[in-house]
Amino acid sequence: MKRICVLTSGGDAPGMNAAIRAVTRKGIRTGMEVYGIGHGYKGLIEGDIRLMNIAHVGDIIHRGGTVLKTARCEEFKTDKGIDKAVENINKAKLDSIIAIGGDGTLKGALELVKRGINVQFIPATIDNDLGYCAYSIGFDTAVNTVVNAANGIRETGMSHDKTTIIEVMGRNCGDIALMSGLAGGADAVLIPEVKSDIAKIIDKIKEGISRQKKNSIIIRAEGADISTEELTEEIKMGIGEDVRTVILGYLQRGGSPTALDRNMATLMGSEAVRLISEDKPSTAIGFDGQKVTLVDLKIADNIENKVRADLLELVMTLA
Ligand code: ATP
Repeated sequence: MKRICVLTSGGDAPGMNAAIRAVTRKGIRTGMEVYGIGHGYKGLIEGDIRLMNIAHVGDIIHRGGTVLKTARCEEFKTDKGIDKAVENINKAKLDSIIAIGGDGTLKGALELVKRGINVQFIPATIDNDLGYCAYSIGFDTAVNTVVNAANGIRETGMSHDKTTIIEVMGRNCGDIALMSGLAGGADAVLIPEVKSDIAKIIDKIKEGISRQKKNSIIIRAEGADISTEELTEEIKMGIGEDVRTVILGYLQRGGSPTALDRNMATLMGSEAVRLISEDKPSTAIGFDGQKVTLVDLKIADNIENKVRADLLELVMTLA
């Protein structure tokens, strides 16, 4: 009987629970013993390994966060930490690890693979910054959260004739800003991958004001090349009117996962179990919008993430 384990690591992302559920139930129903690791790689180092059953993952498919808990673990970045984790994996006689997380978690998975451990990686981060796959679990929910917030901001902005800057997450990736800007009908979007043109944004807002549109919405990714404070000041000066700022923060990480995130998580979780049951090598599992994709885990981290920078222009054209 195969013994597998599942962990969630790094920032939490809505849909992680759906992946844990799929891995646990498919694993058990395929005749495997499934273990859950608490707090990601930290739990692997500390030996926080518990046997899962079907009921443990009941009533979680619709919940954000992760029932296994997650953590950022500096010790796992050291040889000593990884060796301790490998010792615990071998002691528990685990055949394979299913690691769910973002780019840091992928790097950690690679270290385990280098030490002979079979790892199946499932991408889950609201940032959508993994180059090897089009979508990561949590991204769609985060975009919908931002769009819903922008809808509310648009209403109050319209009532008060105010321009609003919304700061969104994404670390060094502009995907959340870009896709929520497009879906939310923003007037401009600033992302880390493209140099910001503040004069052009000011002209766009002024053009709106000249046709009685006084509630422009600008979405700034947290990693953009100008801070929210500086951007606010420059736009205030540029248009000669007050500007509101909203920093959405951690609420973008929470919330019930969308159907897309749940289904992606379910398909990728199920695929991870299939790969293990067929003794496949370590794989970085992905999703292209319709179906699961597979990349050798050893090369997945080297694939550059590309942003649809052309959509910045489209956002402004349609505003
Ligand atoms: P998110 O992008 O959503 O925050 P993430 O998986 O990128 O998710 P990180 O905090 O970057 O989050 O990484 C998660 C964990 O992976 C780290 O706390 C660490 O334990 C491990 N990790 C990151 N980089 C490495 C590395 N180079 N070597 C070994 N382990 C690593």
